[in-house]
Amino acid sequence: MRSIGTTYISVNRAPADDVRGQAPAGTTKIAIRQRLLKSIFLIGLLTLLVSPAFAVELPRESLVPGGVAVLPLDYRGKNPPHIYYLDKRVLVVKANKTWVAVVGIPLNTQPGTHNIEVREDRATVPFEVHDKTYETQRITLTDKRMVEPSKKDLKRIEKETARIDDAYSHWSDDDRLELPFHLPVSGAESSTFGLRRVFNGLARAPHSGMDIAAPIGTPVLAPSDGKVINTGNYYFNGNTVFLDHGQGVVTMYCHLSEIRVHEGQTVHRGDVIGAVGMTGRVTGPHLHWSVSLNDARVDPALFLPIGE
Ligand SMILES: [Zn+2]
Repeated sequence: MRSIGTTYISVNRAPADDVRGQAPAGTTKIAIRQRLLKSIFLIGLLTLLVSPAFAVELPRESLVPGGVAVLPLDYRGKNPPHIYYLDKRVLVVKANKTWVAVVGIPLNTQPGTHNIEVREDRATVPFEVHDKTYETQRITLTDKRMVEPSKKDLKRIEKETARIDDAYSHWSDDDRLELPFHLPVSGAESSTFGLRRVFNGLARAPHSGMDIAAPIGTPVLAPSDGKVINTGNYYFNGNTVFLDHGQGVVTMYCHLSEIRVHEGQTVHRGDVIGAVGMTGRVTGPHLHWSVSLNDARVDPALFLPIGE
């Protein structure tokens, strides 16, 4: 959280006509007013949006590839407007009588101005995406087929990719979403979101989730209420569960030793959905957890309470 009130600089005594004449002799502490005002405005806005008096808390905004844009809308309709970004429907929540679009920014987004589309008004709302360079992680795998799959493996991967894409594109009008998420497994974060990945010297897709290391068999818990929309054993992801939390918010749990839910099942926050394992492409037991909004994988840390 941005701190306020501490943004002061010491400067030489102000000129005689300066109205801040009551300052002690020698130096005058002046606030960097604009920054302070901006901070107060932002904190005010955040307080307004995340106050417990409102129906839903929001993820933290991070205007970078793999981040989230939180955009209050100038739309007065009673029902939520249909918002699209890159032709994907966007999560809309109501915070203090204001409709707010919560947009996932894909990792491959170019910095610059981007727009969401409000279908009802045929209007666009711009937002800025800033550059972010994610670090590179080099990983060595002894199972070479996990880096360079055979022709047969590639056929399997292609089929699975279609199923995985389907799960991520899932939309339900359900407004059950309750944030912040709880951490699905207690353990140390062993790999952060967004890292560029090089396996055995070959560049592969960036890390689209958060890894949490934990012993095999550690229960994996639903971070919030949801519905199981897909389970399976996938080439890279191993045993996997997808949860739908409504309005395009989909989470994925990978490398499980066991799946303890079935497709179509409703789960509540804290329910066991599986157990930590090391199935699929791994170097050790851990949970890979992805969070997706409007089919964009975003940093799960933005959905957790601060400090978790
Ligand atoms: Zn991972």
